[in-house]
Amino acid sequence: MQTEFDIIVIGGGHAGIEAVYAGAKLGLNCCLLTPLPEHIGQMSCNPAIGGLAKGQMVREIDALGGLMAELTDQTGIQFRILNRSKGPAVWAPRVQADRFAYSRLARKRLESTTGITILAELVDKITAENGRVTGVICQSGKQLATKAIVLTAGTFMRGMMHVGTKQFPGGRYDEPAADAISQSLLELGITLGRLKTGTPARIAADSIDYSKLQRQDGDLNPEPLSFINDKIEQDQVCCWITWTNERTHQIIRDNLHQAPLYTGQITGVGPRYCPSIETKIIRFSDKDRHQVFLEPESLETDWIYCNGISNALPQEVQDELLRSIPGLENCKVYRYAYAIEYDFLPPTQLLPTLETKTVAGLYCAGQVNGTSGYEEAAGQGLMAGLNAALKILGKEPALLRRDQSYIGVMIDDLVTKGVDEPYRMFTSRAEHRLLLRSDNADARLTPLGRQWGLVDDHRWEIFSRRQQQKTALYDYLVSTNYQGRKLDRVLCQQDHDENWLLQSVPELAARELPNELVRSVIWDIRYAGYIEKENKLVSKAVHLEKIKLKPDTDYDAITQLRNEARQRLKDIRPLTLAQASRIIGITPADITVLMIHLKK
Ligand SMILES: Cc1cc2nc3c(=O)[nH]c(=O)nc-3n(C[C@H](O)[C@H](O)[C@H](O)COP(=O)(O)OP(=O)(O)OC[C@H]3O[C@@H](n4cnc5c(N)ncnc54)[C@H](O)[C@@H]3O)c2cc1C
Repeated sequence: MQTEFDIIVIGGGHAGIEAVYAGAKLGLNCCLLTPLPEHIGQMSCNPAIGGLAKGQMVREIDALGGLMAELTDQTGIQFRILNRSKGPAVWAPRVQADRFAYSRLARKRLESTTGITILAELVDKITAENGRVTGVICQSGKQLATKAIVLTAGTFMRGMMHVGTKQFPGGRYDEPAADAISQSLLELGITLGRLKTGTPARIAADSIDYSKLQRQDGDLNPEPLSFINDKIEQDQVCCWITWTNERTHQIIRDNLHQAPLYTGQITGVGPRYCPSIETKIIRFSDKDRHQVFLEPESLETDWIYCNGISNALPQEVQDELLRSIPGLENCKVYRYAYAIEYDFLPPTQLLPTLETKTVAGLYCAGQVNGTSGYEEAAGQGLMAGLNAALKILGKEPALLRRDQSYIGVMIDDLVTKGVDEPYRMFTSRAEHRLLLRSDNADARLTPLGRQWGLVDDHRWEIFSRRQQQKTALYDYLVSTNYQGRKLDRVLCQQDHDENWLLQSVPELAARELPNELVRSVIWDIRYAGYIEKENKLVSKAVHLEKIKLKPDTDYDAITQLRNEARQRLKDIRPLTLAQASRIIGITPADITVLMIHLKK
């Protein structure tokens, strides 16, 4: 049995999958340690990938050569583009995935990738010497040596689950918590904090009265998430919508004294943008109803996920609550809702490469960094695994700028500003969101992925062909007349979409281009003015990104710096002047002082 690896990834969740896959793609010898390999890629909460801003991030992961979009395309059971009535920057793909098929496929893809060993182990201890990781010690006693570790332990570190007044240790339903590793991190000088999240009940499909529900179908022509796929083969299912009502709200209000979120039993901060139903009732007390989405978890079971009513109330209160909702009067509960508290690492302890500042070679990604969501975890996992590999190979780190990707926005926010609640991605977090459309993620990132060694020949070939097709279509539209005007002008002046274009110009229809590609070119043409303006803003800001600061800069020696600025710079240790300028409390005057210092 091999006992030495280039990279060890701790945890087989969404961050761990991408981290180990990225490391192996760069030719390194990687090991994934996770207690239950049959749970690799498990969706702890909602079996859905994508959504607002998250969908854009999945396309970015794909454009860089990651796995998430491919896994989703093969296992999706309902595909929808959200925000179709709004501007292109906020169109977002969302896919309901078959949770079991997804998990099985994730494991299979990793097992069939050269350079990946998967071992069923729970890690108790990370070992280090002279400030550098050396290996891990598992609960079983197994010891493994390594050059780098990517920690992706999700909600498991000192995980504590709550249902009413009952509390029990666990990483998620029916899985043990990882307690010892928290102590090991503390011993290495890492600071830990506490966060909370929650999940709703799952009920039996045949116990629902569908006559009282509103049907929600997926898109008629589902579009793949991955740039390397051109169609979705599997059949689609529908989801259903119902609403809470005044009776539901009264049941919750009457039982707040048993709600651990409000009794002081839970102290960790929860996700503000994904609140529990208890919090919704209190925070939005003027609302007389809240939407509940009933979503199939898999084609293999009849479990329905009740999206929108996560809570930690006692089971008997949950029964009452669920049965007050139209359509659920006789529902059979398979699994009750619960909340979970867990340890996380405040992410200002990380460099933009996601390596800890305290222990060289220790990288962290996913929920452990204070984020929430599969997509956020996967994006960080990919970048952490990639950077761990690049460092071992003696290459320059891989960093994504804020104007290049949502992944870049997220990592910069995490390491520069930190979090005080679970961090979730939104389009509004990106100042250049007009540039960060889901359809152009490949143009933004695939060349970088290729340069870093993540993008294989197959993906590169598809990318190159797509770019050629886009250029040819663009050239055609700007040079071809249609009823006396050039086609690009017609598309700008009238709100015509790709369907109109393909119907009106048979020559284009004959090219058999994917609808999504045609739409992307139309958007480039229609928003060219805005894009140009945005690009000018970016190029002005980029010069600060190019001015590097050494992580070991002696800020005490820069006497002109204000005390507060010095302290914040010492805490964050920014890698560029641009990152320094985004630290909370750093003023333009502080940046000028740094510039003068660098010129000297
Ligand atoms: C109850 C619950 C509710 C949630 N609700 C939401 C929500 O509403 N919205 C949302 O966006 N997200 C929610 N999430 C979070 C979502 O599951 C995570 O964001 C996502 O799964 C994070 O991915 P990850 O890879 O970081 O961690 P996870 O998917 O949690 O994976 C962690 C992996 O690490 C393994 N592991 C842990 N410790 C060790 C160790 N010491 N050694 C080896 N392996 C280890 C685990 O077995 C697991 O495989 C919820 C999670 C839970 C548990």
